[in-house]
Parts: sequence; C-alpha cells; structure tokens
Amino acid sequence: MESWIFPAILRLRASANSFLSQFEPLAIVLAPLLSFLVARFLQTYIQAVQDKGFKATLIGFFMTWLKLVPGVKKYIDAEKHKVVDKLQSSSKSKRDGWRSDLPRTGLGAGVLEQMKEEKQKDAAWQGKCSGTVYIGGNESEGHFSLINEACSMFAHTNPLHLDVFQSVVRFEVEVVSMTAALFGSKEKTSGGQICGNMTSGGTESILLAVKSSRDYMKAKKNITCPEMIIPESAHSAYDKAAQYFKIKLWRVPVNKEFQADVKAIKKYINKNTIMIVGSAPGFPHGIIDPIEELGELAFSYGICLHVDLCLGGFVLPFARKLGYPVPPFDFSVQGVTSISADVHKYGLAPKGTSIVLYRNHDIRKHQFVAVTEWSGGLYVSPTIAGSRPGSLIAGAWAAMLSLGQEGYLEHTREIMEASKRLQKGVKEIPELFIIGRPDMTIVAFGSNVIDIFEVNDILSSKGWHLNPLQRPNSIHICVTLQHVAIVDNFLKDIKDSVKTVKERPGPVSGGLAPIYGAAGKIPDRGMVNELLVDFMDNAC
Ligand SMILES: *Cc1c(COP(=O)(O)O)cnc(C)c1O
Repeated sequence: MESWIFPAILRLRASANSFLSQFEPLAIVLAPLLSFLVARFLQTYIQAVQDKGFKATLIGFFMTWLKLVPGVKKYIDAEKHKVVDKLQSSSKSKRDGWRSDLPRTGLGAGVLEQMKEEKQKDAAWQGKCSGTVYIGGNESEGHFSLINEACSMFAHTNPLHLDVFQSVVRFEVEVVSMTAALFGSKEKTSGGQICGNMTSGGTESILLAVKSSRDYMKAKKNITCPEMIIPESAHSAYDKAAQYFKIKLWRVPVNKEFQADVKAIKKYINKNTIMIVGSAPGFPHGIIDPIEELGELAFSYGICLHVDLCLGGFVLPFARKLGYPVPPFDFSVQGVTSISADVHKYGLAPKGTSIVLYRNHDIRKHQFVAVTEWSGGLYVSPTIAGSRPGSLIAGAWAAMLSLGQEGYLEHTREIMEASKRLQKGVKEIPELFIIGRPDMTIVAFGSNVIDIFEVNDILSSKGWHLNPLQRPNSIHICVTLQHVAIVDNFLKDIKDSVKTVKERPGPVSGGLAPIYGAAGKIPDRGMVNELLVDFMDNAC
C-alpha cells in the first residue's frame, strides 16, 4: 500500500474529530432526546403497523409528511370540502325555515297538520328502496295499523319499571322465547339454557354480544387485551363495538365465494382472541358464512362465536321449512355462543326492535350492569338504554303473534321467489354479473364493462334507492315484501340504465359515481374516514 495513505487517513480522522468535538456539549444534551424521539417514533410506527398493516401505515406517514409541504394541506382540505358539499348538495338548501326555537305558544293539535305536510316531502319510498321498509304487499295497511295501535296502547310504558308494567315485561320475555325457539332453543342439543333480551336494533344487539363475549373471556381466560376477528363482509356494527369497548379488530378478506375464509381467520387467532363472527347472511352480498366450520374453529380454541342473524333471523328458519337449501346457522351448531336477530327487519315489527340471544346464562350475565353504590338506590339494567320504549316491545309482540308461523312462511316464500326472479333477470343482462351465489333475499351485482356506480346514478334518477358496495364495486337490493309486485319494473329500469351507460358512459350531473369511484381508490383510508366524519358533522 502507498506510504502516504495511512498518514492521510489519520489526518482526516483528526480533523473529523475536531469538527465533531465542537458539538460535544450539544450532543450530550441532544443524544438522549434524539434516542427518545426515535424510540417514540418506532413505537408509534410498530403500533400503527400492528393496527393497520404495513401499507396503510406507510401511506399514513407519507400523507402526514406531504401535508407539511406548504399549500398541500390547504389544497386537500379544499378538495375535501368540495366532496362533502357535493354529498350534501341535496339536503343543505332545504333547511331554510327549519325551527331552532320552541314556539312561545304551543301549537296544540295543529302540530299534526304540519306533520302531515312534512310527510309528503319524504321521497317516494314505496317499492323503491333496498331494505328500509320490510312490511309490504296486500295486507300491509292492516299490518301497519295493527302495530301502530299496539304501540300507541303501550306508549306510556317502560320495562325499566318491571313492578309497574308487567304487561310489557311479559311481551318481552315471550318475544325473546319465541325467537329463541326459531333458533333451536327447544332442541336437546342446545343445553336448554338459551336466553336473551330485546334491544333497540341490530347494532345494539351486536354491541351487547361483543361486550358480553369480552367480559366472559376476561372471566374465563383472563384476556385483558381482547381481539376479535371478523370477515370483511361482517356489519360495520363490529367496528363500533371494537371502538367503544377497546377491542382490537381484524377484518379478514372473504374467499372466492365471498364467504368467511375460515383458514385465513384461523391464522389470526392468538391468546388474546375473544371471538369470531359469522353472518347468515352478510349484509353486502346476502351470502351465508360457513357457520359449522366457524363453530368448530371457535369451539376448538374455546373462544366465542357470534352469528349475525340480523337479516336472516326471520327468514332462514322459514325458508328451511319451505325446502330451500339452508345450511346450519343457529344454536344447533356447537360453538355458537350468541346470536343477533332483528325483528324490525323481516320480523315485520316497528323500527327499534331486535333480539340478542346467548347459549347460556353464564355468558349473558356479563351483559348486565349492576350498581350498588349509587345514592339513587340499587340499580341493575340489562341493555344499553336505561328507560326503554314499552311501545316497541308491544309492537313487536303484536307483529309476531298476528302473523304466526304461517304468516312468516307465506312472506318468506314470496320474497324468496321475488329474489330468484330478480337474480335470473340480472343474470340475463350480459353487462352485469352477480356477486357470489346469493343465499337469501339480497342480490348484489357489478360489471366488468361499465361503471356500476353510473348505472346506480341513472337508477337513482328513476327514483330507486340502492346500496353501493365496494370490494368489488357493485350495488345491491335487499328484497322485501315492498318489491314482490315490482320486480319486472325494476329489471326493466336496470336494463335501460345499463343501456344508457353503455351508450353514453361518463358521470351524470348530480351523480355520485365519481365520488364512490374515487373513494374506493384513495389509498389513504384516513382521508376517506375524515371525509365521512365531516359529512356526518354537517348532516346532523
Ligand atoms: C341490519 C344489519 C345489522 C345492523 O342492524 P341495525 O338494526 O341497522 O342496527 C347488522 N348485521 C346485519 C347482517 C344487518 O343486515
């Protein structure tokens, strides 16, 4: 080696040292601070990766930094505003003249006149909305007036006061028992302990089932950092439960048939897992998850399995009796620990009624809250609400008893047949494809050749209110008794809309297709989240 190299290196090192030594006092102060910041950064990063996955975290960090570039945040906020305004354009202008003060002198019975006027302004929903109103058909007027009368008869009641209102207490117990019997409570294998409560809706039933499972698993397995695993198709109520009750949520992609992917779910199970979820059927595509396989999995790991029968609860037991192929979905499946079923959907009861059921009292006990140290006295309440509307319990009881098994069987036959006709019609439109194989009364469809959200915009202009879905982009209709008579009209409107979009693709004025299309593609889900929150913040 050349003789000058060593001295040169030595000289270089000496000058580097003297340069760095200038900073030594500063470094003594900064080093711990820097390492603290780096550690914090890594901690946040690792936590974020655990919570959201690697890609979402990277995008999140990138967006945070990007927003620091002058002007970028302002630009993004302005664009966000535009979208929120567009989503709201129809509702904002109509608010002129809305009351913000109590009238000095009461309007008395005059309010009823004004209410009739307001009712006229609602969209024409009859036969035009996916889901929404489940009562329909020839006898619907009779059914509506019957449940309205039942509700008004008990409008003053509150089951919180069980010593006063034994009537609605009885109604609630009977509604729960009759529903449980639909799901196998009378079978020997059920263990004879199935119990439950009425709630305000599917979401509350799910919130309670998740809360009870969490506390049951805490008691049984001492799980203190609970996690739950759900298929991507499971209802948004599980996200609500996870956020409210501090549970880590894993949403696992569905398989090729758009069902819960049991093998993939299994991979997420660890010592903190409290529960898994299956839907019968799921809201997006109306497909039943493999409940038996999920039951086996839950049972083998000693964790809870909630079956979401919010939509299927008052259809599947009757569909099976009618001979439609219905795989096992209820307490007859070992491993199922809780079930939610909405009476206010296909149960044809007034809105605000659902049922949560448990395999046994050991699990349900974790649903209740008892308070012993309140100066208001000893207090115990079964569900989220304190006071509860006895009128709705009475309405649900009236709905179930007035229809009876034969009523539900007849309605089930009608909506199942209407759904099959609809499916067949959609299949015959070459531009469209049906998502998976619908098991019940929801038909979801998309397209590989045209923008399905543009089709939805045209359908909206014809008065239809369907549900736009993502992954894949598609729309669905949840068939109710409202639709039995109009399936052919609907099919014609779909055909015409597809034709229109095919001939003249591109956004229609006032349409939401560009927004839905873009929202699906924006990689920064945090931004889409902000958009939704801003929308809600402006809407109410
Ligand atoms: C409707 C529905 C829910 C939630 O019900 P809400 O009554 O709207 O709170 C949950 N799961 C499924 C499958 C549903 O269809």
